[in-house]
Amino acid sequence: MGVWLGNQQLLTGTVVRAFGKFFEVALDESDATLLCTPKGILKRERKGTDIVAVGDRVTVVDVGDGEGRIELVEPRQSVLARLARHTRDTEQVLVANPDQALFLFAATEPVPHPRMLDRFLVLAESRDLPVLIGVNKIDLLAGDPAQVFPEHRAIYPVIDISVRTDQGVNYLRELLEGKITVVAGPSGVGKSSLVNSLNPDLGLAISSISESTGKGKHTTTAAQLFRLGPETYIADTPGIRALALQGVALEDLPECFPEFRPFLGHCRFNDCTHVHEPGCAIREAVGSGEIGFGRYESYVSLRRGDPED
Ligand code: GDP
Ligand code: ZN
Repeated sequence: MGVWLGNQQLLTGTVVRAFGKFFEVALDESDATLLCTPKGILKRERKGTDIVAVGDRVTVVDVGDGEGRIELVEPRQSVLARLARHTRDTEQVLVANPDQALFLFAATEPVPHPRMLDRFLVLAESRDLPVLIGVNKIDLLAGDPAQVFPEHRAIYPVIDISVRTDQGVNYLRELLEGKITVVAGPSGVGKSSLVNSLNPDLGLAISSISESTGKGKHTTTAAQLFRLGPETYIADTPGIRALALQGVALEDLPECFPEFRPFLGHCRFNDCTHVHEPGCAIREAVGSGEIGFGRYESYVSLRRGDPED
């Protein structure tokens, strides 16, 4: 069965890694991957973006010896991209077709960092990327998990997990199924441990997932997808932290805080920055507890362009 091009069978798959002009494609119908090059015509068709990127859905022909040729790249549903260096109009795709982001922190060791989380959240909101927040190492916490990121729990799904005891891991697995999930978080929170626990076949070395906070050794590696199951992938995307630090346009910032949205447009001044103006609906909502003070502080800090602390 399947679709044939002359005597060659057409296979569908997902690009999981890029090596210069070669792309590793994970096939939908099997656990196999093919090392592929795009056929010539694709290069002329795509202007202003990468011809093929990690996350692209592709149709390939198996040419033997584990190699293939990319015949077709499906239109991207979404992209996480940045402007390519030295250009104004060419995007460099970090991941094609991301479905959601998982921002992973630890309940402790290292201590959770709400302001860093907010930077990631603003990035996701600005790209309309749905968000999951994971709190790992819940086994190390004596008290109630609700004490970790209390303000965020009212706004985003927060999943308490422990890779060590397996708590919450199966629930998280369900939330990842059939999706490409971009994972980011500080070093040491358990990203590699989590991906290993979701797919033990991967056998990643601990701390092998790129750290999103640090000047660590992995910051220059390209994005790659780890396959967890059929059409289920975790994206390890080293460029995320830089993108989060870059921030968003100031006028878009209030919209990137979902809990601000009901109050936007109700300030005395149309051009209210929500920092110091009288009659500010956002600041009133902070006063009445409808908007969390920590989240508001993150907003003010991002608005001022504070460096990451
Ligand atoms: P990464 O830098 O985010 O990839 O973090 P790693 O996966 O390398 O984990 C960092 C450390 O945290 C390792 O020593 C892990 O064994 C440990 N760790 C990971 N998950 C858990 C957990 O759920 N509970 C506890 N107590 N330790 C964990
Ligand atoms: Zn205001």
